[in-house]
Amino acid sequence: MAATASHVSYAVGALPLETQLFIGGKYVDTKSGIKFDTIDPATEEVIATMHGAGKEDIDDAVAAATSAFEITKRMSGSERRNCLLKLADLIEKHRAQIAEIESRDNGKPRHIADTVDIMYVIECFRYYAGWADKVGGKVLMPTHNSHSTFAYTTHEPVGVCGQIIPWNFPLLMAAWKLGPALAMGCTTVLKLSEKTPLSMLMLGHLFNEAGFPAGTVNIVNGYGNPTGDLIARHPGIRKVAFTGSSFVGHKIVTASAETNLKKVSLELGGKSALIVCKDADLDEAATAAHVGLFLNMGQCCVASSRIFVDEEIAEAFTAKVVALAKTLRQGASEGHGDGAIDLSLPTAVPICDLGPQVDKIQFDKILGFIEVGKAEGATCVLGGSRVGTKGYFVAPTIFTGVTDTMTICKEEIFGPVMQVLTFKDNNEAIRRANSSVYGLAAGICTRDVGNALAMAKELEAGSIWINCYNNFDMACPFGGYKESGWGRDKGEYALENYTEVKCVMIPIAIQK
Ligand code: NAD
Repeated sequence: MAATASHVSYAVGALPLETQLFIGGKYVDTKSGIKFDTIDPATEEVIATMHGAGKEDIDDAVAAATSAFEITKRMSGSERRNCLLKLADLIEKHRAQIAEIESRDNGKPRHIADTVDIMYVIECFRYYAGWADKVGGKVLMPTHNSHSTFAYTTHEPVGVCGQIIPWNFPLLMAAWKLGPALAMGCTTVLKLSEKTPLSMLMLGHLFNEAGFPAGTVNIVNGYGNPTGDLIARHPGIRKVAFTGSSFVGHKIVTASAETNLKKVSLELGGKSALIVCKDADLDEAATAAHVGLFLNMGQCCVASSRIFVDEEIAEAFTAKVVALAKTLRQGASEGHGDGAIDLSLPTAVPICDLGPQVDKIQFDKILGFIEVGKAEGATCVLGGSRVGTKGYFVAPTIFTGVTDTMTICKEEIFGPVMQVLTFKDNNEAIRRANSSVYGLAAGICTRDVGNALAMAKELEAGSIWINCYNNFDMACPFGGYKESGWGRDKGEYALENYTEVKCVMIPIAIQK
């Protein structure tokens, strides 16, 4: 069905701009009557009015996913593999349109949406297609009666899953959850963020075309309350996978505990440290700091927002990092009105091209943190304000003279604001890096391999990047220690989120 109530006309090609709910393989109106607008953060204009899901809609979505599960749980691994491969091909075919919508809704430059987000989405579905026909179980060796008992395990799909997605990488975060769920034969009710409801919704057509049974993937929109909460509490859902803030992560766990004890996996916030040792290659370290912090306008859960630099090299490192930040390119997507990003300008870190922040709430929050940083005594050596008068653009900002107790060093800013701190020896840096309640990621820059590996062992974080940062590969698991989450996305490890292990035992004996 074509788009409804769109305020801005978009030439999106073969895939229409959808605004309804995708339930049971069809686009349907909300029964609850919830509607909300989604905004283009570069122009502050409304893109479309979206349908939001209330109780009846979520009940419908769970019912559709429950019926579909009767089919998907009996599909062979090769059938699931083929659907995932076809889905990846279809996304590739419509890649330009999908990148366009992702860019308009989220703000990230279109070429970044294409070459980072969509590229990894395609890779993700192909990667999990590879697991769909390879996960079986184990033959066990019973310890007491191995000659008279045969025992084995099978890995079975958990069933209907709820998947709740944030706005910073809307499609990619959804793909990381859908890939393993679909590979294992689960069905889902997937909720997008109210800030970025469009891109994933367009893909509804493609799940049908790829051959997934209607109701395998149900895509709903709406605010955390009521839509997200309804998913987290629904008795027909057996598992909920959540990516978002630690604040909401607590609510997801509470909702599970207060209802049917659904299984929970959580990918939450961070305040990650990058440690630059005195023997580091300074150019490499400055680039790692940029990719770590300015990628996606600083809106990354793993953002290296605490950069610990050995005091012997702090001055030289800061000079390099500031010089590099001055070459960052910023603006709206190409061909997107006034103030479009100028891709002909030279830049040392093209992957850090900046668009606007996702919305006014985030924009105000980031500018607020910058003011607190200044008021608490940090030195703002670059940026520190908005850019232009229209759109939610924040200048790349660097603070030096930051101490561990400052607000900008403790709280997740989720914007292009870098904090540089100094240290005297590597043990001190490790202790201070670990002092956060979070433990999502960390980075180390050093030329000494033994030092790097010893420091990696001590850091309390789920991902450690050595002489690089934000280096993603589908085979590598991703998730956090401490308040950064439970469980892992990506890689073989993510399959565990979507499987039950069944153990079967039978006495055996040769008949006389
Ligand atoms: P958020 O927690 O505000 O929202 C995330 C999702 O949860 C949204 O879809 C939202 O509508 C929904 N939600 C809100 N309240 C809810 C409730 N009570 N019950 C159920 N659902 C609810 O986070 P955000 O602002 O969208 O994303 C930014 C946060 O996500 C940051 O903290 C960031 O670090 C984190 N994040 C983590 C990862 C990771 O893999 N660890 C990846 C991306 C983002």
